[in-house]
Amino acid sequence: MEELLKFAPRPTGAGEMFQLLRDGQPRTRADLATATGQARSTIAARIDLLMSAGLIAPAGEATSTGGRPPATFAFNPRAKVVLAVDLGATHARIALTDLASQVLAETDAPLSIAEGPDTVLGWVVENGDKLLAAAERDEGELAGVGVGLPGPVEHSTGHPIMPPIMPAWDDVDVPGILRRHFDAPVLVDNDVNIMALGEHRAAWRTIDNLLFVKVATGIGSGIIADGALRRGAQGAAGDLGHVAVAGAEGAPCRCGNVGCLEAIASGQAVAERLAAEGLDAHRSADVVRLVRSGDLAASAAVRQAGRDIGTVLAACVSMLNPSVIVIGGILAEAGEHLIAGIREVVYRRSLPLATQHLRIVTSQTRGEAGVLGASAMAVDHVLSPASIDALI
Ligand SMILES: [Zn+2]
Repeated sequence: MEELLKFAPRPTGAGEMFQLLRDGQPRTRADLATATGQARSTIAARIDLLMSAGLIAPAGEATSTGGRPPATFAFNPRAKVVLAVDLGATHARIALTDLASQVLAETDAPLSIAEGPDTVLGWVVENGDKLLAAAERDEGELAGVGVGLPGPVEHSTGHPIMPPIMPAWDDVDVPGILRRHFDAPVLVDNDVNIMALGEHRAAWRTIDNLLFVKVATGIGSGIIADGALRRGAQGAAGDLGHVAVAGAEGAPCRCGNVGCLEAIASGQAVAERLAAEGLDAHRSADVVRLVRSGDLAASAAVRQAGRDIGTVLAACVSMLNPSVIVIGGILAEAGEHLIAGIREVVYRRSLPLATQHLRIVTSQTRGEAGVLGASAMAVDHVLSPASIDALI
């Protein structure tokens, strides 16, 4: 980011005008003059700048009201590419997308985040290069890299801060390490924030207030309020998993505390409870398998986890008044039991004004939410007015 500001451009207004074109709709010079209130000559100069950078392209002619039909211009999302990286606890996924977050090439692999930054970021570099080659794009076309990590991240620096399941990553300069290889801005956030962003852009773009909840090995949420992702002061907003809940008293949590929501309602906690009852369950995936095979004890345990999560979400509904709560993460794949437990408590414990239009649904993007959000995060930075003005 500082890199870009160093080359602080003469303000041309082209970056600001470009925002109007990001919806992909073709516009004429006259349309843009009307929308911005600027002179036709100013608009023409800005269009020339954006055209030479490849960010917009001719999009045919508008219908004429007589005389020569005016030319139109539209956003050219293929001008550049971004790498979108979703690093989970035990699984990694990386995609190359265009500037509209359309996936051009993608790969994934089982990879434990606990193997540490050298191994995991090495995998990112190696596979990032492979995807660029597969899509026949060269490194100069790479405009940015977005990364999601399964732990708390200070978004302003991109450093993970005391992440419970990835101790070797504490305060590691993830953007710095990736920039040694990729000559592009690197944005980092926690995995749930990027999933919230990905789900919002892909499925709920017109909804301004949305809460995305991930229920997997851990529990967390990403907050979209007034149309934008809200990270809080340090980037820790939405970390629901460590809220104390009734019924969890004394249960040890991986954060070092006791009595957290995550200690009784995460996929891991449910698996451990079922294992104690003699069932073959070691992790979230086993819980999903048992529920799908019709095991009554597993279904009841997942529904109870839903109720426990629901008590915390009822408080969130009172605080944030979202119109949609999306439930994602692997435990959401255990059929309707989780969401039924959540609905049961949220609708009972929240005021009618907050719930009369509230929808509680499962994720539509599933495994793709992370890379779609990582792409959106990088693209938003790359296409911001300041970045565009610097680029051209
Ligand atoms: Zn905890």
